[in-house]
Amino acid sequence: MILVGHLGATEKDGQYCKSRNVKQSERFFHDLLTRLGTDYVDVVMLHNFNVMNDYEQATKPGGQADLARRLQQEGKARALGISVHRVDVAARAVEEGLVDVLMLPAEVSPVRCLSYTLAQVGVSLALPGVKDRAELREALHTLEATAAEQDFGMLVAAFERYVEGECVYCNHCLPCPVHIDVGQVHRLVDLAQLGQDVQAAYDVLAERASACTGCGACMERCPFGVDVIAGMERAAALFE
Ligand code: SF4
Ligand code: SF4
Repeated sequence: MILVGHLGATEKDGQYCKSRNVKQSERFFHDLLTRLGTDYVDVVMLHNFNVMNDYEQATKPGGQADLARRLQQEGKARALGISVHRVDVAARAVEEGLVDVLMLPAEVSPVRCLSYTLAQVGVSLALPGVKDRAELREALHTLEATAAEQDFGMLVAAFERYVEGECVYCNHCLPCPVHIDVGQVHRLVDLAQLGQDVQAAYDVLAERASACTGCGACMERCPFGVDVIAGMERAAALFE
C-alpha cells in the first residue's frame, strides 16, 4: 500500500476546496497524518494544477513546492509528486526535475490505462487508485490480460472525448456557494440517461440543482471544461 497526501486539498464549510495557501496546506497535511495514524506518507502530492501560472506560483520560493520539500526533509514524505490535468504543466514539472511521481486523469479501462502507462519510456511503476475490491480486481487483471484487452490504440479517441466537456464527477470545481454537490448531480443525470432510476438518490441530496445561481465559479475551476450551469438546468428539469 502506498499512502499519498495531497498538499492543497482542503475543506471549507464542509466542502472540498483547493488551496494554494502554504500554512493552510500544511495544516491539512498534518490533519491527514493524524487521521491515518502515521508519521509520514509515501508521496506528498502538489494538488490539482490546471494552468501554468498556478504552477509558477506554487514553485516560487516559499510556495507549496518548498513546503513539500521541507516535509520530505522532516521525514514526513518520501517522494514528491504533482497531480495535473494539463500535459504542458506535467511536462514542465518533469523537465524541471521537480517531481518523482506524476498523477494524470484517464477515462479508459484500468487494463488499457495501466498497459499504456507501463509501456512509456522512463516509467518504472504505475499506481492505480482504487476505491473498492472490484476496482482492485480490475486493476490486477492487467497482469493476465490478453493483448486485445491491453491494446491502448483507442486512447487517442478517448482523449478526444475527454476534451468535449464531460463531467468526470471529481468535484474539483467546489466549493459551490450554495453547496451543490456538482459531481454527484452530474453523475445522477448521467445514470438517469442510462435508464437507471436514481430519483431517490437525487431527493436526498443536501442541495438541489435548481438552487444554482449561475455564478459560474465552478466553471472557472473545472479542469474539464464542463458547462455546469447547463448541467444544473438539465438536472433540475429531469429530477424536479
Ligand atoms: S464539473 Fe468539472 S470539476 Fe466539477 S465534478 Fe464535473 S468534471 Fe469535476
Ligand atoms: S454556477 Fe451553480 S453550481 Fe456552479 S458554483 Fe455557482 S451556484 Fe454552484
